[in-house]
Amino acid sequence: MGRGMKRERRLIIALDVEAEKALWIAQQTSELCDAFKVNYPLVLSAGLEVVDRLSARGDVLCDLKLADIPEINRLIVKLLFDHSASGVIVHGFPGEDSIMACIEAAKGDVFVVTLMSHPGAERFLAPAAEDIAAMARDKGAAGIIAGATRPERIARFREIVGDLMILSPGIGPQGGDPREAIRQGADHLIVGRRITQAENPAMAAEEVLREIERAGESL
Ligand code: C5P
Repeated sequence: MGRGMKRERRLIIALDVEAEKALWIAQQTSELCDAFKVNYPLVLSAGLEVVDRLSARGDVLCDLKLADIPEINRLIVKLLFDHSASGVIVHGFPGEDSIMACIEAAKGDVFVVTLMSHPGAERFLAPAAEDIAAMARDKGAAGIIAGATRPERIARFREIVGDLMILSPGIGPQGGDPREAIRQGADHLIVGRRITQAENPAMAAEEVLREIERAGESL
């Protein structure tokens, strides 16, 4: 990824599984996605070495949704990139100094969470989400995260962030529709369980890729 996430497959696979399964899925799907995403369940159980190991198969986006004071954010971001991360996902609500600390410490892309995909996001994040997107744009983030469960808002985020990347999770078990997220302006879909819990993850990834292609054709 370096600075600049690939936009070839438009699929990022969320590896919220234990380490050996994550590495096996990464091996099966490395040609089918632009990056792998890791989150706390994997990193806390396997340690940051799992990021180094996965990076042999593709770009690794560390979704630790950092939300701390600038100095602590900076220390964490440095650790992640020292372990071969290609990008990091951080929360926007702690404010611009916390975001700037991440962007300055990153040796790759910083993505800022605007709206999360779960129902509870409605109360606090939904009212602030557009403001957060504008801050991400103004501070030089590589892109934003906007859940596919509220596709109508993706179109509005696109107007705000211009050509920044929009990554959209929430497909499958959370109820988001891949085609709708792409049609509304998402660059990439982040897909976890629909692929990782399938009997054949590569086949499940190919199915998502077909849906992405079809949505792109109907634009
Ligand atoms: O299994 P599923 O496809 O629902 O996984 C979605 C992944 O994307 C999880 O790792 C989750 O933490 C992450 N995510 C999300 N909504 C956000 C940001 C990240 O679901 N707004």
